[in-house]
Amino acid sequence: MNSCIFCSIVSGEQKADVILSEAEYVAFNDIRPKAPVHILIVPKKHIASVAEIKEDDVLLMGQLIDGAKKLAVQAGVENSGYKLVFNVGHGGGQVIDHIHLHLLGGWNNEEHLALNV
Ligand code: AMP
Ligand code: ZN
Repeated sequence: MNSCIFCSIVSGEQKADVILSEAEYVAFNDIRPKAPVHILIVPKKHIASVAEIKEDDVLLMGQLIDGAKKLAVQAGVENSGYKLVFNVGHGGGQVIDHIHLHLLGGWNNEEHLALNV
């Protein structure tokens, strides 16, 4: 039994609101959205976090970002702007130990700019 929730979504064992499925990754809407648009881009390969990526995974990481760019167009936020976030480790806010790229956008005001780093 696989105890990783995102591996279960990748395999289809666990339902999710999947909006894009490519050879190397899937994208689905976050179940508890923190922005009007909140999509998770998740590699099919289980890698626990950015801290665990190996040289062989570098292309895959670029594919996740490329996927996010396409999803931003699909979600209609490419002109208004968006954030791409990897939480790394529990101290970095990571709760699910399977790499995922957060795509956040679609705000109607500028409150989110307080998050700027
Ligand atoms: P992180 O804190 O970076 O590990 O982000 C995990 C994200 O996964 C959170 O934003 C959760 O709301 C989201 N999440 C957890 N379970 C599910 C699920 N079954 N389907 C979609 N999103 C989920
Ligand atoms: Zn996994």
